Amino acid sequence: MDTAHPGSGRVLLVEDNAELAELLTELLSDEGYEVETAADGQRGLHLGLVRQYDVVILDRGLPALDGLDVLARLRGKGVTTPVLVLSALGNPADRVAGLDAGAEDYLPKPFDVDELLARLRALRRRHLDVARVLPVGTMRLNLDTRQVEPGPGAGEPVRLSERECALLATLAGRPSRVFTRRDLLSLAFPEADSEAVVDTYVSYLRRKLGRPVIATVHGRGYQLGAP
Ligand code: CA
Repeated sequence: MDTAHPGSGRVLLVEDNAELAELLTELLSDEGYEVETAADGQRGLHLGLVRQYDVVILDRGLPALDGLDVLARLRGKGVTTPVLVLSALGNPADRVAGLDAGAEDYLPKPFDVDELLARLRALRRRHLDVARVLPVGTMRLNLDTRQVEPGPGAGEPVRLSERECALLATLAGRPSRVFTRRDLLSLAFPEADSEAVVDTYVSYLRRKLGRPVIATVHGRGYQLGAP
């Protein structure tokens, strides 16, 4: 079902070659993708853990943390976003290592940009069949429908706004972590500038899902609660 403009997904591009990163960002933006970049493995891992993407393009050779380590850690934390690994090492053993680490696809450098775009489309299509779901206590947050599904027999699903969903997904993505309001501001509301927005959306979520859904950790911030 390829259309002329099949993009419109969020892409995380982890690539330390600044020239290539810039080129790919331009190309993907032209195709309608929304692109965020990370120039090293540590930053790529961080973004991959706290934000939601439709696909990750991951260079294999990266400073700070190797691409395959990033991938293994993302998978270890339950991040199921499809990952396309780019690598200068194109031999079959490397390809196997990439796929073993949890990549959906593997593309040796240098690559043809049309091939890259075609593979991204294929990855997205395949992934759209799989709902992205995060546990929230006994409930489940479906990131595709932005609905919180209560446990069996516990009532109707609750629809969240985009911002409510971003905040809850951030907390639910790392349930054992206490987030400061500043963390939450930059992770869930990167376009906002006041920490008050965090408190506002915490109160919206509590109103919709019950007070225990988010715990206040006094003097520190917020954490996913145990509803
Ligand atoms: Ca590299």
